[in-house]
Amino acid sequence: MKYFTLEECIYSAEARRRGIDNSPNATQKEHIVETVEQLLDPLREAWTRHCETKGLEDPQICISSGFRSLRLNAAVGGSATSAHCHGYAFDLVPSNLQMAEFKSFCRNFLVSCGNFDQMISESELKNGTPAWIHVGYRNAQGKQRRQLLSMRGGCYYPMS
Ligand SMILES: [Zn+2]
Repeated sequence: MKYFTLEECIYSAEARRRGIDNSPNATQKEHIVETVEQLLDPLREAWTRHCETKGLEDPQICISSGFRSLRLNAAVGGSATSAHCHGYAFDLVPSNLQMAEFKSFCRNFLVSCGNFDQMISESELKNGTPAWIHVGYRNAQGKQRRQLLSMRGGCYYPMS
């Protein structure tokens, strides 16, 4: 856990508003740590290098949604099998808001490392720019399917 704290991995404004306890159990916490160390930290490090090369400011990455307890996931309308509930998935937004750049970076990074379950370019505009990037390290069964998807208008497509 080099670039991300457990607090930001489990923080949810929605959980606070609704008074939902969003604490992970021991297994979920292990999954969060594994995902950060195997996926998010290396991705953040490579993004820093990428930003330097491209002359982009602020290589920080914000977690817009991380771990979700079952109650929180139901409250936000998440899929019942969501990897977020296992501590295996995180929604990311770069602090510099370079969404198109971040999408292509994440795609290249994940395809070249191969150590991931899913990348979803979420709520894309017509030009393919996402509102956020979902990255999953493993699915609920612990598998890595290496899927690349785009979500537009609530539907999933092979990534554009
Ligand atoms: Zn997500």
